[in-house]
Amino acid sequence: MNKHARVESAPIAFIDLAAQRRRLGRSIDDAIARVLTHCQFIMGPEVAAFENALAAYCGACHAVSCASGTDALVLVLMARGIGPGDAVICPAFTFCATAEVVVLVGATPVFADVDAETFNLDATSLKRAVATARRHGLTPKAVIPVDLFGLPADYDAISAVVAAEGLFVLDDAAQGFGATYNGRKIGTLASATATSFFPSKPLGCYGDGGAILTDDAGLVDVLKSLRVHGQGSDKYDNVRIGMTSRLDTIQAAVLIEKLKIFADEIAARDQVARRYAAGLRDVATVPVVPEGMTSVWAQYTIRLKPGVRDELAAKLKAQGIPTAVYYFKPLHRLEAYRSFPVVDNGIPVTDLLSEEVISLPMHAYLDAPTQDRVIAAVRNALGR
Ligand SMILES: *Cc1c(COP(=O)(O)O)cnc(C)c1O
Repeated sequence: MNKHARVESAPIAFIDLAAQRRRLGRSIDDAIARVLTHCQFIMGPEVAAFENALAAYCGACHAVSCASGTDALVLVLMARGIGPGDAVICPAFTFCATAEVVVLVGATPVFADVDAETFNLDATSLKRAVATARRHGLTPKAVIPVDLFGLPADYDAISAVVAAEGLFVLDDAAQGFGATYNGRKIGTLASATATSFFPSKPLGCYGDGGAILTDDAGLVDVLKSLRVHGQGSDKYDNVRIGMTSRLDTIQAAVLIEKLKIFADEIAARDQVARRYAAGLRDVATVPVVPEGMTSVWAQYTIRLKPGVRDELAAKLKAQGIPTAVYYFKPLHRLEAYRSFPVVDNGIPVTDLLSEEVISLPMHAYLDAPTQDRVIAAVRNALGR
């Protein structure tokens, strides 16, 4: 094999954390070293500093950090007192954690359908899901829109339903933090927003982590109590049942450094998305970003004609190009979630998408030649 051929088939990273690490250089090492020096591993000074920076970044009044994106969702549901007999509407086309947290607090997830173009919660389906919940004898209390693949949900359309039905809106922004909707950043579009710092998310740390963003000072007080076992004025004066869910100081230190380059990385991801769209729009259905929104491209997900996905994935894999299918089994088809109510008439869009979608390598450090390799390989595999 000559040198050129080897480069042509070198494996491409789906998400290249090592490239980001090289760019950040010593700043991360130094930030971690500072924590190793002061040894305040739980709730050290970096935690509050990061919370302030995160709230300032998105324009929310408050940020409360915690141990994961899943915990961020759970803590809000706990703080709202959502439990047995309550329904929380979730899109069925998402990662399981969106609905898992509802079950964890003893409430019932009711699955709604998504929009075929944006992959996000369909507000008309949300409205019908509220009725479905009532028919099941449940009290609809909240909705968890997901900013899937980095694109904000349709908050205006959702708000109209929410206002009429008196629902609490908890934004699952694990994939969408950093995106904007009519000039406002995610973190300010719902009563509470939960995000994740899992390493492969757009803003990731070097382990698990999460945060809640809100303008509600009363909610903040309860969340801060819940994340330390329901503490009152003192850690050993417990006033409610809580859990242990703090963001490690070391992770906060890492995130402070990563947040500094986050806007720049989002711009780079957007460039990658634009090049993909230009190179692929005539051979596949490329993702749309509706007027007034921006995406942080947690995933770059295209749609293919039914039946060609597996062959495309195999051909790309043979050339060192990884792909992933998010999500080949929507929530209502997963063993653990099969028994929960589904909006009446079923959820045909979710079912269709789960058979057509495939995600391509996407990160801020994907250079143009590598992207061209991906584009050429996809076109080739589809016979174009
Ligand atoms: C990743 C993810 C979560 C969970 O975040 P963790 O930090 O892994 O607990 C929740 N919802 C969605 C949509 C996600 O993608």
